Amino acid sequence: MTNTIDYHLAREKMVKNQLMPRGINDPRVLEVMGKIPRDRFVEEALLGEAYNDHPLPIGHKQTISQPYIVALMTQALELTGEENTLEIGTGSGYQTAILAGLSEKVYTIERVRPLLVKARNILAELGYNNIMFKAFDGTLGWKEYEPYDAIMVTAGAPKTPQPLLDQLVEGGRLVIPVGNKFSQELIKVTKKKGNFIQKNLGGCRFVDLVGVHGWKD
Ligand code: SAH
Repeated sequence: MTNTIDYHLAREKMVKNQLMPRGINDPRVLEVMGKIPRDRFVEEALLGEAYNDHPLPIGHKQTISQPYIVALMTQALELTGEENTLEIGTGSGYQTAILAGLSEKVYTIERVRPLLVKARNILAELGYNNIMFKAFDGTLGWKEYEPYDAIMVTAGAPKTPQPLLDQLVEGGRLVIPVGNKFSQELIKVTKKKGNFIQKNLGGCRFVDLVGVHGWKD
């Protein structure tokens, strides 16, 4: 009768058609993205588009990232389940859920408090108990719980914030979009013997990272 959407099928198709053909091959990433209900993190009016191959608005001029970008950034962190992971830009909380499913503990920071509160409620409803939240400027990192094995920044930065590099463990990975306000390159930084090795994962477009070590408000 009603036009209920088969989210399970939509997720399966997303993994098969959007992720696997584009080089997402970490089985843990594919598994977790095949399970987490992305539909819970989007606005009701956009439910029909929850699993589509593009970002969606989440209010406060912010967006939930395209599934492929979420997968690409997550895969780059090489998570095994034992990591202390820091996320900057909680937004909808969708990426947070993916990281929480693949790490030991996730520390997530969001500067727009209403977004943080909404994400925290949804993630609690879904039963996550390994996530710590903070309404703050994430460009400063989260000193209290450093160092981090993995750091993900989900907003575009003019350059990698130094505090985040400082809070990475030896051997740790950091993924961040770096560029101007209109387009960025997805950069993976690996800390090896105190050096920061950079790899370019390709072009992307994110909302601004606003803060002391980001764009000015
Ligand atoms: N991973 C999120 C992406 C949200 S968009 C998702 O898929 O839903 C990026 C988010 O970064 C926005 O919510 C924005 O408010 C937040 N943000 C921007 N600058 C920030 C900063 N300095 N510290 C914390 N969050 C920031």
